[in-house]
Amino acid sequence: MPRALDVADLVARARRGEHRAVARLISLVESDTAAGRAHLREVAVALAPYTGRAHVVGLTGPPGVGKSTSTSALVAALRRQGRRVGVLAVDPSSPFSGGALLGDRVRMGEHATDDGVFIRSMASRGHLGGLAWSTPQALRVLDAAGCDVVLIETVGVGQSEIEVVALADTTVVLLAPGMGDGVQAAKAGILEVADVFAVNKADRAGAQRTVRDLEQAIAMAPEDPGGWRRPVIATVAVRGDGVDDLVAALDAHRVWLDGSGDRVRRRRARAAAEVEAITLEQVRRRIGDLRAAGALADRVASGELDPYRAADELLGTLGVGPGVAASG
Ligand code: GDP
Repeated sequence: MPRALDVADLVARARRGEHRAVARLISLVESDTAAGRAHLREVAVALAPYTGRAHVVGLTGPPGVGKSTSTSALVAALRRQGRRVGVLAVDPSSPFSGGALLGDRVRMGEHATDDGVFIRSMASRGHLGGLAWSTPQALRVLDAAGCDVVLIETVGVGQSEIEVVALADTTVVLLAPGMGDGVQAAKAGILEVADVFAVNKADRAGAQRTVRDLEQAIAMAPEDPGGWRRPVIATVAVRGDGVDDLVAALDAHRVWLDGSGDRVRRRRARAAAEVEAITLEQVRRRIGDLRAAGALADRVASGELDPYRAADELLGTLGVGPGVAASG
């Protein structure tokens, strides 16, 4: 069990690209057991000096648009260039945790024997703090393991997409012909979150039109204050067509991020969110422990104490004064 675990050794091995060490570290950081939690801090400390290098790319878009196929095609394209790639497939609706780092998804099968590819499924259902807490930690592991690019792909729908966007340096929004044209996309607020658009299934009728509509919507949208022009790349992910162009667009965005200072801004916002998630997580756990003790709840239930004063007492126990709570 984890008591004998040598975190420093694990991190050293992960940095050399040992898949088993990477898998073990991700299991540790997403662990929701007391034994796993005991090592979270130690792992975070050990990883911190080696993070901040990877280009984090989020892929989002409606189900069936080709996110998974595109992720796999991007991995292939990046590997052809000799880059080390991490993939986090995030499924907020699934209670099943990552398991094997390699080959845990059939669709990624072609990369299963590649030493330069790290694939992991992340499930958050039932986790306290959910994705906001566990995904950034997994990201740190892949970053420290020397991944040049980490692709975060959402498997489910909804809230996760927003969380994924918040984690990424560069967000790719995928659309496909017949799945909503550019104008609809603009209405859905997709223009704001996208740094790069991919119109996938460009082998289908209407793809040109979707590209044109999107380009028009982009032209009409208020210009990005930093001057980034969102490119629209047509792809046929199943054949790998256009995927090198997509990689080039991602690289261009990264160069722009570095030049404009936006990368620093995004990373600062991400760090703030990460700290907040960890803080909330710890508060939740401690409240949970106190709730288990039950005394406060008994006093509220019996009418001895009103719930606001009880909350103040709870905050006091956590070392947060009621005054702080009232002003927050
Ligand atoms: P996701 O739900 O967004 O991850 O979408 P998938 O990657 O699972 O793809 C959904 C379906 O679309 C699958 O059957 C893919 O084979 C198919 N698909 C993906 N890319 C393309 C493409 O470029 N052209 C065509 N015709 N089909 C594609």
